[in-house]
Amino acid sequence: MSDEDYDSIIDSTPATPADGPPYAECVRCRKPTEYPAAYRGVTLCPVCDWQEAERGACPG
Ligand SMILES: [Zn+2]
Repeated sequence: MSDEDYDSIIDSTPATPADGPPYAECVRCRKPTEYPAAYRGVTLCPVCDWQEAERGACPG
């Protein structure tokens, strides 16, 4: 497996659990998330992530 293959796997993984601190802050409530601080993208803590999913699942 080449380095490029490894990068593509990382990019295609939406939520890569961090091995440990530092964690990225939740973009909504600023609490620590399960994402690594180096994570590029929207980082939500489990609570906000769940609320986002609930909101997205509700058509009304
Ligand atoms: Zn949050």
